[in-house]
Amino acid sequence: MPRSKRFGQLPPRYRFALNLHADYRASRCPRCNRLTYPRKFALLIHVDPDELRVLGKTCKFCSHCQLIIAHQDELEAELAGHFQQARPGVIGNAYLVLGTVEKAAWRKGLKQGQTLDELRAHTADIKEYLTIEYEPVGWFPADEAKAPAQPGPARPAGRRAAAPKPPRPAANYTELVHQVVREAAEPLSFAEIFERVEALAPITTKNPKATLRNAVSQSRLIRPTGDGRYGWLPRLITGAVLRVPFEAGSAGARAIRFPYEVRDALWPAFFEVQKRGDRSPAPVQLPDGRWTEWPLDHLGQSNWGTRAAPEFWAWLRGLGPRRGDSLIVTALDGAARRFAVAFERRQARDEAAVAARTAEIKLAAAEFIRKRQHVSTLPWEIAPHLLATGCYRRPVPPEPLETFVADLLKASGGWSPAPGRGGQAGPPEAGPGEDLAELLFGPGTAVYDVGAPPDLPAEYRPGPARGPRLARSTAERPLAAYTLRVTHRAYPDVWRDLQLAAEQTL
Ligand SMILES: [Zn+2]
Repeated sequence: MPRSKRFGQLPPRYRFALNLHADYRASRCPRCNRLTYPRKFALLIHVDPDELRVLGKTCKFCSHCQLIIAHQDELEAELAGHFQQARPGVIGNAYLVLGTVEKAAWRKGLKQGQTLDELRAHTADIKEYLTIEYEPVGWFPADEAKAPAQPGPARPAGRRAAAPKPPRPAANYTELVHQVVREAAEPLSFAEIFERVEALAPITTKNPKATLRNAVSQSRLIRPTGDGRYGWLPRLITGAVLRVPFEAGSAGARAIRFPYEVRDALWPAFFEVQKRGDRSPAPVQLPDGRWTEWPLDHLGQSNWGTRAAPEFWAWLRGLGPRRGDSLIVTALDGAARRFAVAFERRQARDEAAVAARTAEIKLAAAEFIRKRQHVSTLPWEIAPHLLATGCYRRPVPPEPLETFVADLLKASGGWSPAPGRGGQAGPPEAGPGEDLAELLFGPGTAVYDVGAPPDLPAEYRPGPARGPRLARSTAERPLAAYTLRVTHRAYPDVWRDLQLAAEQTL
């Protein structure tokens, strides 16, 4: 490649492969068959039309081949999560991993921002793109008898990684798992899913259970129903009753903005990969029996909603809606995507019942966050869980998740909102309330202020005095110090240097 066409100013460095196969986790290098290991890279990614992002991502790495393998499903989920706040309009667009950024420069960029020139100075373009050819072992259509193949060999690929050809083999376990759960009338236990997939195609991977568990857990459409079973999210949504607060006066509304749970009920495949994704308009019945359609519209920042159709506006304006009134959306049949809309005046609603329902939803959300302590929960991960576990199948719709979810997540030490979501009250001014902390972690919980922890030793306190404490004897005489390098046997390029004074005791 001519020098001028490079983005990065460092010499091109790694090979890169995007793994498109959710049931192949690349534990061995597809090029040399040596063991790979997980390693974090700062990947520079171009997203059409004009986004350039550096994303910290743990990938599989073969140090022999200098090959980075990123799993497509993970990478796209992170990109979607990333752009959900920053620029939802580009979610689903074609993207390309251009190169790797030196990690120190990336961290500095995160803190202080970075110009394009600074970024280029610390970027190495990808040296070579590889495609992973992978055919799961064992099952092929009768007219296509083939010897079972192992993953690999990798071969050079074109630059665009975004429009991959579908995997060749017919036994795609991810697809089969989706098919089985989609076609079952009732939610299934894992054992039942396993049995039904096995009946369609013998699972011949090394660890069949792990293969299927992986396929189940990666899916956004297959959801735990809370009783040990897994169901098809679009079907589980049926019967949900949801509230859309009306945010403008009767003259002001040009679009209806949806809270998370309403968007997810109307478009459960919002975050799904393109193959299963569906953002087509939602058919909605008006109270007088007529049908209208709500197209999914991006309303700026991280807001999604609909600009709806003339017959909808004619109906709504006829009611003279005011700020504080609500639209009530009912999922008549989630799998067939049939919904109904009704109108509720603020004065007509049963405030006590709405408050009780909101408290119920808040508790269910807190429970979900608490059970996921090992991962930090993002606000839009909560709604699908609540919809799948039937929390909204009650006649009275609660206040939207967004009215309290930021407080809940902040109290759990996780996500905090970017400004600009919706017309709801902004982020709370004060710190998280003690009652939220107690809701999440039980009575008597104190809020630990990470900015100024009460038990921080003096040496660590921010300010000019911050630094290691000198041994008392250094005041009297020079003291020998030893540097111990601790290396990681499996990850040779990971080490820590520890400096110890000669008189250090344990
Ligand atoms: Zn290799």
